[in-house]
Amino acid sequence: MIYLDYTSTTPVDEEVLETYIKTTHNFFANTSSLHKLGQESNYMYEKASTQVKDILGLKNYNIVYTSNATEANNLGIYGIVNKYTTGKIITTKIEHPSVYEVMKSLEKKFEVIYLDVDEKGIINLEQLEKNIDNNTILVSIMWVNNIVGTIQPIEKVIEMLKKYKRAKLHVDAVQGICKIKPKFDFNEVDLFTFSTHKIYGPKGIGGLLYKKDLSLSHYLHGSNVQYGIKPGTFDLSLIVATTKAFKKYYPEVEKNHKDIENKFNYLYSKLEQVKKIHINTPKTNISHYIINISIPNNNGETIVHYLEQNDIYVSTGSACSSKLKKPEKTIYAMTNSIEYATSSIRISLSILTTYKELDQFLNIIKKY
Ligand code: PMP
Repeated sequence: MIYLDYTSTTPVDEEVLETYIKTTHNFFANTSSLHKLGQESNYMYEKASTQVKDILGLKNYNIVYTSNATEANNLGIYGIVNKYTTGKIITTKIEHPSVYEVMKSLEKKFEVIYLDVDEKGIINLEQLEKNIDNNTILVSIMWVNNIVGTIQPIEKVIEMLKKYKRAKLHVDAVQGICKIKPKFDFNEVDLFTFSTHKIYGPKGIGGLLYKKDLSLSHYLHGSNVQYGIKPGTFDLSLIVATTKAFKKYYPEVEKNHKDIENKFNYLYSKLEQVKKIHINTPKTNISHYIINISIPNNNGETIVHYLEQNDIYVSTGSACSSKLKKPEKTIYAMTNSIEYATSSIRISLSILTTYKELDQFLNIIKKY
């Protein structure tokens, strides 16, 4: 089997899984219970949360664990905008559906601006500057795009937002955290999200980190567990496993990125030699974890199934929207071509990827 779909999800790291199992055995009590066992669980929860915040260098942030990043993005965005009855929101045309569809749902109540991207998948900062004003309540821009791997200039957005105190910045950091080194300080982002299953952790957990002085409107209602933002009993083991994944992979970011960059360059140069292939991922401002290609006059889904027959696994795009058979919106926003946007596949890399796997993939794709 050749798995090249690490952007959709990663296999669980053995040590992370071991941490999950140990915590399940040793700390099963509810963190809200007043007795000793509950307090021991609660201590583990506090410790695990503090460690994640310390690893990210965060001062004065709360962390709310959710079921995944989709939920974290929803709770964060609604948490900001539902305090208002009117206002302007600025986002991009290339957000993951867990942001994009939330924005669509807000159009009835708010003015929502979707920033264009250029042919390299980068937002138009001038367009942002033109649109942002004192009426802007939220700017939501992803850090690393999940379809092509482009990195948005979050550090420049942070600078621009300094003049607009009302506008809060939300960053979907799912494809960046533990993968690339940020050019910005997380402390300058009001709220951001991650997903543990993208960084060799288990599924069923993501996180929303937000500045302590932000009061978020509550979408869910229940106890005051997790600041009342995601109330209810949670699985402590998932949280401790998340911390383990951060502890293991965050310090390795630069080393692992170098390895990925080499694999990316290898694959990219070979793909460039295949005439029928158009490469959508640019060469600069990218994470290197993703290479998106199109084979015009073909359907992306058909290519995925052809590769699957050869025991090779890739995606057409975001797993959440890949079954919808719509033109891929990031590719369309970059290329303005329905042809490229319906014939694209996403190959995504990992430290687990071998050059032999890449060669086998190349052999098979050439024969398509
Ligand atoms: N944002 C981005 C950029 C993603 O790539 C994904 C996962 N495809 C998500 C959000 C949603 O993450 P989850 O699967 O944890 O809901």
